[in-house]
Amino acid sequence: MHTDILIVGGGLSGLALADALQQMDVDFQLVEARDCLGGRIKVADVDGAKFDLGPAWFWPGQPRVAAAATRFGLTVFEQYSAGDIVAEDQNGMVRRSAGFASMAGSLRLDGGMGALVDAYQAALPADLLHLGQRITAITQTEAGITATAQDVTITAQTVVLATPPRIAAQIAFDPALPDAQTHAMNDIPTWMAGHAKYIGVYDRPVWRDAGLSGDAQSRRGPMVEIHDASPHSGGPSAVFGFIGFDAQTRATHTDDMHAMAKDQLTRLFGSLPDQLIFQDWAQQGDTATPADFTPTGHPAYGRPPALQWIWDGNVILGSSEMGKTFGGFLEGALEAAQDVASQIAGNR
Ligand SMILES: Cc1cc2nc3c(=O)[nH]c(=O)nc-3n(C[C@H](O)[C@H](O)[C@H](O)COP(=O)(O)OP(=O)(O)OC[C@H]3O[C@@H](n4cnc5c(N)ncnc54)[C@H](O)[C@@H]3O)c2cc1C
Repeated sequence: MHTDILIVGGGLSGLALADALQQMDVDFQLVEARDCLGGRIKVADVDGAKFDLGPAWFWPGQPRVAAAATRFGLTVFEQYSAGDIVAEDQNGMVRRSAGFASMAGSLRLDGGMGALVDAYQAALPADLLHLGQRITAITQTEAGITATAQDVTITAQTVVLATPPRIAAQIAFDPALPDAQTHAMNDIPTWMAGHAKYIGVYDRPVWRDAGLSGDAQSRRGPMVEIHDASPHSGGPSAVFGFIGFDAQTRATHTDDMHAMAKDQLTRLFGSLPDQLIFQDWAQQGDTATPADFTPTGHPAYGRPPALQWIWDGNVILGSSEMGKTFGGFLEGALEAAQDVASQIAGNR
């Protein structure tokens, strides 16, 4: 199969780039390793209620996500933050206070961030999207660049790697990339890739009933930072928590940790969740590498000089980590897609 632009990766950046190319009338194909689109965007569906297992928020001052929500008619609502907060110490002693919900003012999408993925997918021709196809090799040939997955081989003029740079570095390039470029890719942490989340699903928001916002901090864990995660449109409610245990502990003591998480939610909110959903991004090989297991602070993202020109400009990195201003965030994925689309337009 031949195409002008091959997009590797169907997360938000790859989807937004595909959408931009479609609007520019540029020939493209998109290949995604997983069986579904969205990448780090993933939702759990409980009786029709959608809970974010990856990103949950965008923020005022991030115009691209807001514009996409408007374009696709998605409902934006503010993070629930009314009521008291709770904190527990290392012994599990819980204290309630009239503190400030730390994510007050953050914005969410009804239907979760998956609603954005669904909207992009619906706007794109299905026959241009190849799911369940992991690109393992990229080879320069006389006809262009040939990318190989299990069941498809696509030759393109330009390949956009809309994958985390560390994941892109795992692809076999022929000829091999210079060491400086491979090192530069491996030096870029994949934002949030080492994290894991619990969603505690409840029939109704028992914390709200008790005058709590759902915001909690814990020095005991397993969850260290907890927030309301309930849908805007009703149905089952939830809190979610980032897990403080490291990736190794999470992988080896999973069952114990689940039991501890249920106890913790009962301590904090007085009631056992009906369902506990666990998502560990560190165990997702298309997102995280062992280098991501130890989470970092938010780095200064953007395309570093060593990665500005790969294979005469015909291989372009395009994930959120390439976003100059909002790198790492959803807004950065849209920013990176916009930059790559401009670069492609400029080359034509
Ligand atoms: C737990 C968590 C919480 C987060 N919270 C927030 C938040 O609240 N707000 C926010 O703005 N951001 C948040 N983020 C970050 C946000 O999720 C990312 O910025 C965004 O989703 C990145 O999109 P992307 O398309 O650039 O990359 P990805 O979503 O990583 O997409 C890359 C895609 O490439 C595919 N792929 C990889 N290798 C190959 C291959 N060889 N062949 C084919 N396909 C391949 C992957 O399967 C994946 O679908 C969070 C992330 C996590 C994990």
